[in-house]
This record gives sequence, structure tokens and C-alpha cells, in this order.
Amino acid sequence: MKILKLCHACDRIIGEIELDDLTNNNADPIMDIVGNVAYALCPGCLNEMDLEPGKVYH
Ligand SMILES: [Zn+2]
Repeated sequence: MKILKLCHACDRIIGEIELDDLTNNNADPIMDIVGNVAYALCPGCLNEMDLEPGKVYH
């Protein structure tokens, strides 16, 4: 069964994944599955999240 993977922050479609993949291994720890949609973060939003806590120090 395929589920759709959406970005939590910008609702962009990241891709489709096999639900079996999730239960077996390489499950994304930040992934949140609701119905047949998995919410995660796209690389772009992930980057922003990574930058935010520490801010930039010059
Ligand atoms: Zn995003």
C-alpha cells in the first residue's frame, strides 16, 4: 500500500512511500502518519529548522 508523503510545514508533496517500508526499517523518526498520508519535512524546511535554534553566529 502506497501512502503520500507531504511536508508538514509547506504541504509540498515529497513523494510516495510504501507503508511496508515504514514498518520494516528506514522509518523517518520525525514522520507523522495520519490515515494514508505521512507528514514529514521536505529538505528545504528541514534546513530552515536546522538553522533556527542556533541562529547564525558571526
Ligand atoms: Zn516544506
